[in-house]
Amino acid sequence: MMLPCGCGLPHCFGRRALIAMTIAGAIAPSGGKAAPASAGPADPTLIDDLVVGNHILFDQGVVDGFGHISARHDKDPARYLLARSMAPALVTANDIMEFDLDSTPVDPRGRTPYLERFIHGAIYQARPDVQAIVHSHSPSVIPFANTKIALRPMNHIASFLGTDTPVFEIRTTGGDATDMLIRNNALGKALATTLGPQAVALMRGHGSVAVGQSVKLVVFRAVYTEVNARIEAEALSMGGKPEFLNAKEAAAATQTNEHLVGRPWELWKRHAEQNR
Ligand SMILES: [Zn+2]
Repeated sequence: MMLPCGCGLPHCFGRRALIAMTIAGAIAPSGGKAAPASAGPADPTLIDDLVVGNHILFDQGVVDGFGHISARHDKDPARYLLARSMAPALVTANDIMEFDLDSTPVDPRGRTPYLERFIHGAIYQARPDVQAIVHSHSPSVIPFANTKIALRPMNHIASFLGTDTPVFEIRTTGGDATDMLIRNNALGKALATTLGPQAVALMRGHGSVAVGQSVKLVVFRAVYTEVNARIEAEALSMGGKPEFLNAKEAAAATQTNEHLVGRPWELWKRHAEQNR
């Protein structure tokens, strides 16, 4: 029932209707965006992979106290799953939060989200093919992000790098006085634009982002981005000019590798869990 509230506005629903909508969650009490609806419980296997992926990335030296991995929700492509703000090695299933693609938490329950969750939401919006994302500051990659030296595949395992790894320049969108973090949707969108259709983008003065069509694949890519950076730096230190995979070799090897990611995953999983 709509009752007049005395505001005099022609389309006013009335105070009672407004209160009812607020209680129902249609309008946030603060006047800001309402908490998005949940897609419901995610597949427990997906949650388990996401938790294990966190542990593997630490065990393999891709993340330390910082960095994160997310997965698109299996019940709704407009939702994604990401741990609360914490060290990846310590993540459990209870720490996994749900977000909409603007990176608004569905049900924070007092949990603090990562400042840089906008990386994930913006890329899921821009790339419907992407099912999982890793953001890290893995150390061997940074020199390539900060120089004009291109990170390119040294061998078949890192073929997903293709013939060019784009570098995100935060100054273009954020100006020259940011704290370098992707802390809003505008910066996330700019990063997603730089990534384009690629599997990996570097971030100048920061780190990198890897994307894939599964949690296992994106962990594979994040690990081998770091390994490839080490190998390429070693080749460059020898004074030579590396011969990289060409476009056709990279495409063919990528197709092969996508069927093989389960092999290192099982090894890394066991190793990570034994070391916890
Ligand atoms: Zn970061």
